Amino acid sequence: MSNKIPDSPKKLLQYITSAIKLEESPEEITSIAHLIMEHIFGIDKTEIIVDRSINANKVQAKELNKFIERLNNHEPVQYIIGEADFYGRKFKVNPGVLIPRNETEELVHLIIKENTGKKIKFLDIGTGTGCIPITILKELKGSRAFAIDIDPRVIKTARQNAELHQVQVEFMLIDILNESIPQHGLDVIVSNPPYVTETDKKEMKSNVLKHEPARALFVEDADPLLFYRRIAELAKNALKEEGALYFEINEKYGEDIQALLEAMEYSNVQVIKDLNGKNRIVRASNSIN
Ligand code: GLN
Repeated sequence: MSNKIPDSPKKLLQYITSAIKLEESPEEITSIAHLIMEHIFGIDKTEIIVDRSINANKVQAKELNKFIERLNNHEPVQYIIGEADFYGRKFKVNPGVLIPRNETEELVHLIIKENTGKKIKFLDIGTGTGCIPITILKELKGSRAFAIDIDPRVIKTARQNAELHQVQVEFMLIDILNESIPQHGLDVIVSNPPYVTETDKKEMKSNVLKHEPARALFVEDADPLLFYRRIAELAKNALKEEGALYFEINEKYGEDIQALLEAMEYSNVQVIKDLNGKNRIVRASNSIN
């Protein structure tokens, strides 16, 4: 590719979309191109429509070529620009943390909806970017957040995000499979644990497989509910009596997770579908009464 950048936003958009060689829909490629244009050239969607002439410099031209090369190597655009959108806010991301997903916005939205007007004391297990506790603190003002991760580098990124959004999260470095958690009397425990099995792996795209942290995604075929069982066990003591548990789940295991939680004497266990019509959230109350 040459270093000559088109002199109008529309032509630049075309130039970028045709340089991206990924097996994605045209809509997806256009939305990636929008993110790049915003990031490198500061050109937003409206400016593309208005289409006033632009004057790109050499540094921008070089950066664009580098970006396109990385994209074509299946690197997720969010890692290249270093941020991802979640529930209307921007979060710092890097290859050490999972990129926040739309499904997780739905999980967070359910918690916000069911607790509107309340100040909750809650815990997020496997926090990654910290997008779950930070968003809940922003929306349910006066709440108190705890968040756990197994990786100190992940906690560093989550802390940066908490600072960026000016909220106070109490981060803890804990390996929940081998350690317990110190909290009691929590209103809510939420988790989006690893739930992609080795079998599911075959259907995953190379941007996820090659670049996102395996530890945040995968669980062994032999025990796909490992994290759910352990978290539900810890939550029995950490939640207050009327407390609630919210999980993001693998669409294949809605019924199994429901049965697991019912066997552990959780009540009002509901499996909720995501916008794509797939079982994606399980919500349960701690006590049976
Ligand atoms: N939804 C994610 C994906 O399919 C998986 C998230 C997770 O394992 N917790 O990439």
